[in-house]
Amino acid sequence: MARRLKGASSADTRSAILDLIRSSGQVSRIELSERSGLTEATISKIVRALIIDRLVVEAGFAESTGGKRPVLLELNAASRYALGVSLDYARISLVLCDINGTVLYSHSIAGAGRSKPQTVIDRTAREIDRFLDKHGITRADVIGIGVSGAGRLDASGGVLRSSRQAGDWEEFAIEATLGDATGMPVILENDANCAALGQFWSSRVSTAHDFATIYMATGIGCGLLVNGDVYRGASSNAGEIGHLPLDVDGPECYCGSTGCLEVLAAPAAVVRNAREDSELWERLRLQDREGEDVRTSFAVIAAAAMSGDEAAESLVRRSARHVATAVLGLTNIFDLERIYLAGPGFATAGPIYLEVVRDLLDRLAFMRAVHTVEVTMGETGPGAAAQGAASVVLHSHLTPHHLRG
Ligand SMILES: [Zn+2]
Repeated sequence: MARRLKGASSADTRSAILDLIRSSGQVSRIELSERSGLTEATISKIVRALIIDRLVVEAGFAESTGGKRPVLLELNAASRYALGVSLDYARISLVLCDINGTVLYSHSIAGAGRSKPQTVIDRTAREIDRFLDKHGITRADVIGIGVSGAGRLDASGGVLRSSRQAGDWEEFAIEATLGDATGMPVILENDANCAALGQFWSSRVSTAHDFATIYMATGIGCGLLVNGDVYRGASSNAGEIGHLPLDVDGPECYCGSTGCLEVLAAPAAVVRNAREDSELWERLRLQDREGEDVRTSFAVIAAAAMSGDEAAESLVRRSARHVATAVLGLTNIFDLERIYLAGPGFATAGPIYLEVVRDLLDRLAFMRAVHTVEVTMGETGPGAAAQGAASVVLHSHLTPHHLRG
């Protein structure tokens, strides 16, 4: 951190100190000075400005180490808010978070479905207005709106990226349109990156720890947090673990490749495999769910697997082995020490995926003799993407030094 701050602009220094306070929970000025390499006088000046700006508050005293008890600082959670919106085919979720990334209020409305993007955005903007009014939130205290999921809309509808429906959204300027409709700044981010940044904020992960969040909803994505920011690659499309080719002779994927993780292991693959087992298909009454969102059928299979149905468990384990293999490859490339499994796809059978991924990494991770790889469940609730989207706002507005590198 000290190396990072040397020669940084004053805005970057302030942003980095705010980030140290975030990841510490509570911290004294002396500790901030030690961790940043800045003098106590500089820290005092920055902290004073952050307190005047209501972003930081003093919160009691630390234990004395001989002299005066140092005053502890923490983020002033209720000073500002960030709004997160998850635009999904089946449901649109709204959450309001404080600046710790903690969800204060949440609400959901009917999904985007096949409506035109402008119609969906207008409806969402009206709902945001009502949501903020209902909870008495002053607009000036809302830093901005994070939107998750444009890339997912096509897949949720079972429609390919090249389809007309997905095309509508791909060409549609969500940030500008929702920004105009609400009068607030809007940031769009894919769901996996949202989930990773949500984890980063709400779990107070330090910038010193690189990690990956595997996000499964309808598809499978991955958010990579490196040096406290999302690793984006050449065109902001890094982390497409769902299209990691695992089997060159495998089934065709909609991306044009064969044997991608997604075509082997995503909810639609598990449901497709279940259809081949007519006894299981009838036992779980899956025929009644034809035409529904594929995630509903997957949740039924996942629940059966968790309650000991052997056929269902074997299907879920097959999916989990593919996910684990992809995670193993990712870990070997990036030398990761932490992996989170997040998103609604892990909500029911998360423990099975967790066990299978952990087992494979323990046995086969290339660096297993050097360090272990910790695998943990992240957020899997319906509001996980929306919460992550709110964290994207916090990340880009409160700690922008990450984005400038
Ligand atoms: Zn693919």
